[in-house]
Amino acid sequence: MKKTIRIISVLLVSAMLMTACGQEEIQPESTAAEPETTRAAESIAEVTVPDIHPTETEPTQPTYSETDLDKLIAITFDDGPSTNRPSSTERILDTLEKYGAKATFFVQGINLTWPDFKDRNTAIVKREAELGMQIGNHSYDHPNFDKMGSSEINEQLDKAADLIEEASGVRPHIVRTPYGAQKQNTLDAIDYPVILWNIDTLDWDTKDAQKTYNEIMNKVKGGSIILMHDLYQATADAVEMVVPALIERGYKLVTIDELFEAYGQPLVSHQYYYKAERQD
Ligand SMILES: [Zn+2]
Repeated sequence: MKKTIRIISVLLVSAMLMTACGQEEIQPESTAAEPETTRAAESIAEVTVPDIHPTETEPTQPTYSETDLDKLIAITFDDGPSTNRPSSTERILDTLEKYGAKATFFVQGINLTWPDFKDRNTAIVKREAELGMQIGNHSYDHPNFDKMGSSEINEQLDKAADLIEEASGVRPHIVRTPYGAQKQNTLDAIDYPVILWNIDTLDWDTKDAQKTYNEIMNKVKGGSIILMHDLYQATADAVEMVVPALIERGYKLVTIDELFEAYGQPLVSHQYYYKAERQD
């Protein structure tokens, strides 16, 4: 009974927040309104987490203790591979490789097609896969899915997935919607789990490595999904600072798949996730 009341109140709050967010003008990836969006989705996650425990299958990943789960986090990079020189995406990969850290790159298909960058960026996506990074689908050219129909959304995702698979040999099986689009019609159209974030560095806005570093170090905790963009040199600078600092603090940087696998939380199509949560 108590739980029912809690769930109903969570739904009511979520509905109110979703209405408020729906009236927001869509802005690049992260805006001042983002905390509302995050709260709404985190509330919803409480009632949409599937009641499934994969006990019938043998674990393929190492089992993590309760304490270990408090130290697992996923860093994610959107919009790349970058079209700058030197490549900020490559600089980020260099740092991750140096520290044996993993991350997830939500790639835009169009960045594998520009005549001046096609070959270089194809090689970069291949390197991402070879280093054990996860590659997710961030659409072909970054439209707002909330304003599109199902077939258009899927054309965007398929076109990007084809390019990513051709470059890396791996077809992405998770999606990050451009601008974090999450309306119900959008989710209904996407036959993949949609991975959002709960720590927004605003790196695209500040282009300030120290601010990005502070945002992460002040807010990080187990299960976090951190949003950055591999398009900027300032972000690559921040990564050089923050990766060793997180490791020093005992954190283990894993991919989205590894994070949710460790938490025993299944990733389900047509649902969105802001962070990994313990399964009681
Ligand atoms: Zn984006």
